[in-house]
Parts: sequence; structure tokens; C-alpha cells
Amino acid sequence: MNFHSDTIAAMATPVGEGGVSIIRISGQGALPIALKLFRSPDGKSVGEITPHRVHFGIIHDPANGQCIDEVFLTWFKAPKSFTAEDVVEVSAHGGLFVSSRILDLILDQGAHLAEPGEFTRRAFTNGRIDLSQAEAVADLIAAASEKAMQSAIGQLKGQLSEQLNGLYDRLLLILSQIEAAIDFPEEDLDFKESNRSESKIRSVRKEVDALIRTYRQGKIFREGASVALVGKPNVGKSSLLNALLQEDRAIVTPHPGTTRDTIEERVRIRDIHINIIDSAGLRSHPETIEEEGIRRTRSAVERADLVLVIFDRSQPLDANDDLMHREVEDKTKLIIVNKCDLKEDWPANVLKEKFPDAEPILISAKAPRGLDALVDSIHSHILDGPVPREGIFITRERHRAHLVQASEALKKTLNSLEQKLSEEFVATDLTIAMNHLGAILGKTIEDDLLDQIFSTFCIGK
Ligand code: GDP
Repeated sequence: MNFHSDTIAAMATPVGEGGVSIIRISGQGALPIALKLFRSPDGKSVGEITPHRVHFGIIHDPANGQCIDEVFLTWFKAPKSFTAEDVVEVSAHGGLFVSSRILDLILDQGAHLAEPGEFTRRAFTNGRIDLSQAEAVADLIAAASEKAMQSAIGQLKGQLSEQLNGLYDRLLLILSQIEAAIDFPEEDLDFKESNRSESKIRSVRKEVDALIRTYRQGKIFREGASVALVGKPNVGKSSLLNALLQEDRAIVTPHPGTTRDTIEERVRIRDIHINIIDSAGLRSHPETIEEEGIRRTRSAVERADLVLVIFDRSQPLDANDDLMHREVEDKTKLIIVNKCDLKEDWPANVLKEKFPDAEPILISAKAPRGLDALVDSIHSHILDGPVPREGIFITRERHRAHLVQASEALKKTLNSLEQKLSEEFVATDLTIAMNHLGAILGKTIEDDLLDQIFSTFCIGK
């Protein structure tokens, strides 16, 4: 009999050796299942346990009474749990064998193995968290930097939801007035307030647009950025990569063209994870063996958020340096003059003619020298603008796409109002905008609209 078919269980901690493994059970059967397996430290059965308290005891195999492990067990009584259902968490010793045995015993009792994300999905379905908060759980787990973590926690705590709900409700109020005027013309609810509505819609749109603008930085904090190192062979790309990594991973030799393939390394520059791509170097007449490297360089340049174009100040500039100029023309870039510890062959301002918009950064990858200023520049160029100390970042493309469409629909709404088009037009676009804001939170507009119409208007008077 599988009377706990709605009960799910899974390992909540990563599989493998660790200090502690947590096995989580959620659903109606969570407590009865746990009580069948749990015993007091002296092996006696436990009739009942207090919710939201940690209990020490053992997990035993009911088939033969064998003690499997000493554990801590906590019952999070519904609805005060992660999923809003009864949840039991068993903290066992970290070994893979022990925790798998416990999970198997739980499954034997009728729980089924949770799908990936199923606990969070239940939290969403049961109304504990909205969709953006559910996504924040995933973001928090994947957070690669302090800012990404802050942003995910903020989103989880509902900061984004709060702002979006606020915007949504402001539009709902306007829409309900329009809908009431359309549906109940005899009630003299003529939509006369179009001027006031216009400024309200305008201010909502302004906030939506401001959220969209946080996406670039939000994405960088969440996913990091790519920086490509380009320059003709021997300018010091590998040396710079090593200096940035502070370890010798790439092979550094005095012979041109050693770095045939691209080398990618992750470094942390302050609060951002950066994927540094060391390319093979570009030449106007590549030897066959380097062609693949050159192709990769071009693709690295293409996918990089920022390109560091490196020149060797101790050697004459030549056609290969010019080639660089052409390859990076449209990219966001920093111009780096390396080997400043050696005697200079040309003054740095020569590059200003080629790259009038960029101030060359003088460094020595080997000495090392000028690296702090370079790191500052990389950081500020990648973020491209001041970072709000606190506040909400949009970190997901799904959110950005909905916000962009909401903003578009609000623009159309404003146009319709300006042109004094009929209320139906205004209502349609407003509804589209709200649907997009609602989609981020996983809510639909119909019920909200009816509630709003019937609560704020005494239609049935
Ligand atoms: P890549 O081909 O652009 O990757 O260049 P490498 O990093 O392999 O460097 C080529 C040679 O230049 C090596 O002998 C490095 O030690 C040397 N080199 C790199 N950067 C500097 C620097 O700042 N100063 C000096 N003096 N030598 C450097």
C-alpha cells in the first residue's frame, strides 16, 4: 500500500563524503515514516516528537532492528516548513553508504524519490514562495560571488517580489477602473482620470526600466564575465594570465607562438568571477599550425565581455600589432602596454593615434608592476557604471525578457492614452504588461482583477 504517495524524500546535501548528510522528507507521510524509523538513543520507540525541535536518537531498520546511524531529527510542522507541508529532516553522519541506507529505508516506507527541484516546486505550488523566490533558491545555491549571494538572498526574502507586486498592484488599480468603466457604463464610472493614470503608468514604466538596467550587472554578479587576452605572440599574454592567477599554469617561454590553444582560467577580481581566455595571438600571415589558434582567438574576442589588447613596449610595433587593431575595433577593450620594466622602443602615446578613446595602461607582467591599476580598470569596465550598494538586481534572462515586454506594453498604453483611443485599447495593453509582471512571480491576472473590481467599486449598490 502506498498511502504516502504524495511524500517525497531525497538527500538535501551533496552526495559524497562530508561531515553531515541531511535527508529531507516532505508530505503527509513525512512524520509517520520518520517515527517508524526513529528510536530514542537507548533504542526505544518514540511515540511523538515536538515540532521545530532537534531530537537526538538512532535510525534503525524496522525489518531486523539493526541500528543504522545516530542522527538528529527535526520535524518542521506544516505550514511552517520549507515546502509548507510536514517536513522531516534527518541529519546523519556524512558517509555515502549510511545516508543512502537511511534514504532507502524512507523510500521503503512509501515515500518516493524527489525529482530535482521538487521541494522548491512544492514550496511554490503551496504558495510558500513565488516563482522569483523559487528561482532565487537555485541562484543562492549556485552563487559564485558575494554580490550574487546578496542578490539571491534579497530575491529569496522577497525584495524583487515585493517591488514587482507593488508595480503590479498599481497597474491593477488602474485596469480595474478602466474595466469597470467598460463593463458597467450605466454606473457612471467613466474613465475620466486619464491624465492621472498616465502619470501613474509612466512612473511604473520608469521603475520597470530601472530594473531592466540592473540586468547587465546582475548577470555579471551571477555568472561572471569573460575577458580575452589578445596580442601578437610574445607580448606577454601568458605571463599576464599567470600574474593574474598568481600561479604558473600557462607555459611561458621566450619563443613566439607557444600558446597554440586558448587557455581558460577563472580568477576572482573582487566580487566578480572572471573567465580569462588567453588566446594564441594573431598574425597577418599565420603559420599553418597556428591557424586553429587564430580562429579561436577570434571566437574568444567575439564572446568576451572585455578584451585586453596587449602590446610589447620593448619591441617595434609592426603589421601584427595593426592586425590587432582591426580585430578589436568594435569591442569594449583596454589597451595594455606590457614590459614596461624594459627599455622602451616607442612612446605610449603612439597607441593613442590608433585607439583615441582608450588610455593605455602601463604594466609589467614580469616585474610585476601596474597590476593593481589594471585590475581596477578591468573591474570598472566590466561593471560599466556604479554598483548600487544595496538593491535588487535582475539576474535572469527570463525576468529581463518579461520586464522588457512589460515596458513595451506600457509604452503602447501610454500612446493609446495620449491619442485618446478607446478604453479597450488601453485595457488590452495594460493587461499584457501585467501578465508579464505576473509571469515573473508565477501569478495570473484574472482572479486578481475580479477581486480588485469587486472590492473597490460598489457595483451592486
Ligand atoms: P605570449 O606569447 O604573449 O603569451 O607571451 P609570454 O607570456 O609567453 O611571454 C613571452 C616572453 O616575454 C617570456 O620570456 C616572458 O618572460 C617575457 N615577458 C612577459 N612579460 C614581461 C614583462 O613584463 N617584462 C619582461 N621583461 N619580460 C616579459
